[in-house]
Amino acid sequence: MTEIQYRLPQKREIVTDFPGPKSQKLAGRRSSVIAAGVVSSVPVYAADVDGGVVVDVDGNSLIDFGSGIAVTTVGGSAPKVVENVQQAVERFTHTCFMVTPYEGYVELAERLAEITPGDHAKKVALFNSGAEAVENAVKIARVATGRDAIVVFDHAYHGRTNVTMAMTAKNMPYKNGFGPFAPEIYRVPVSYPFRDPQGMDGTEAAQRALEMVDKQVGAENVAAVVIEPILGEGGFIVPADGFLPTLADWCQSNGALFVADEVQSGVARTGEWFAVDHDGVVPDLMTMAKGVAGGMPLSAVVGRAELLDAVHGGGLGGTYGGNPVACAAAIGALDTIEDWDLKSRAKHIEAVIHASLDSLVESTDVVGEIRGRGAMIALEFVKPGGKQPHPELAKAVATECLQQGLIILTCGTYGNIVRLLPPLTITDDLLCEGLEVFSDAIVKHEQSH
Ligand SMILES: *Cc1c(COP(=O)(O)O)cnc(C)c1O
Repeated sequence: MTEIQYRLPQKREIVTDFPGPKSQKLAGRRSSVIAAGVVSSVPVYAADVDGGVVVDVDGNSLIDFGSGIAVTTVGGSAPKVVENVQQAVERFTHTCFMVTPYEGYVELAERLAEITPGDHAKKVALFNSGAEAVENAVKIARVATGRDAIVVFDHAYHGRTNVTMAMTAKNMPYKNGFGPFAPEIYRVPVSYPFRDPQGMDGTEAAQRALEMVDKQVGAENVAAVVIEPILGEGGFIVPADGFLPTLADWCQSNGALFVADEVQSGVARTGEWFAVDHDGVVPDLMTMAKGVAGGMPLSAVVGRAELLDAVHGGGLGGTYGGNPVACAAAIGALDTIEDWDLKSRAKHIEAVIHASLDSLVESTDVVGEIRGRGAMIALEFVKPGGKQPHPELAKAVATECLQQGLIILTCGTYGNIVRLLPPLTITDDLLCEGLEVFSDAIVKHEQSH
């Protein structure tokens, strides 16, 4: 293991109000040319990113607890990623793997087959976005099983294309007005320990879901059960122990595929290569994207060889899928995770977060739960004393944090979750400082909202 290197000073420094004058000027230009449907949660424009900091165009250095939504797991400009990208881009930017293939695609596929769970023969197909990977997993599952039905869960997020919108649970902002949606998608309850009936364990929660599938869909019609092992946009919901294994067993007994959407939870984020590793579950197919290529657009479907090979030649692919520069970046990101032992860093970050926040969570009555794994931890804000969601407070805390130079993201079906997704390369000092800013923001706003 080598020491983590930084290019930028790892410190929080505020030199203007937020947003600063240069960010405001860019916001003005943006408003006349960028579609209103594309929004940004943080109104400062980035100029330079490294390790745990984002430096904006006005020279403010912000602590990053968002990683561009769990993407820059290795940091925003990890040396190995930058070097691999530079070397690749000097040789060629594109040939199209479907026209003139190249080694990087093959090498990356070998690496992904190695780090995913299970010692069966695996095959890989590369794409550009998380949604595209999920959509292709559905295509593969349907061809491989000869069935149509796809089972998804409450609070699920799978993307913004037509099939993945149908698979996504939340109407606003992801679906509203964009229908009609793809057919043969069936939604059942997930295991949500904080909101499930008291005492319901993972097996019972799985039975609740599977009984609906049996009654309303019919097991023999199910091509795949698709689930995020830790639900991302839905609120970092960690299903109760036994939930995922029970689903996987049911799939195996009924000829359906168990598909893990690890687009957000995968690639070292939770302290293991994949979140399913914590549950000892081996999916038939997995999707991954966000953390896999150090910020370059790349996604993958990895799974049982016979399933991916069930699809006819030419049935999978795309002009840009597995772009050579993105593949080089991904190889650099995987090397970085190994060289810097970032899986251990994720576990360490989890311990630091708990050490910093648990007593506050215990003493305040506006945080219902702190949950998650590794560097994927969230706090669920509730109205004092009960379980009613408190999105206003989550928003106030996030806004306050930004004023103090900390980038922090909200999520959740009710918008009442604040999620902590720091790059795994953040220093302990910066992590602790960010957690203090966050705690102070909670204390400041818990009474006033
Ligand atoms: C972000 C996300 C997606 C969609 O990925 P995009 O790259 O935005 O298309 C799909 N599934 C999960 C679990 C995600 O978190």
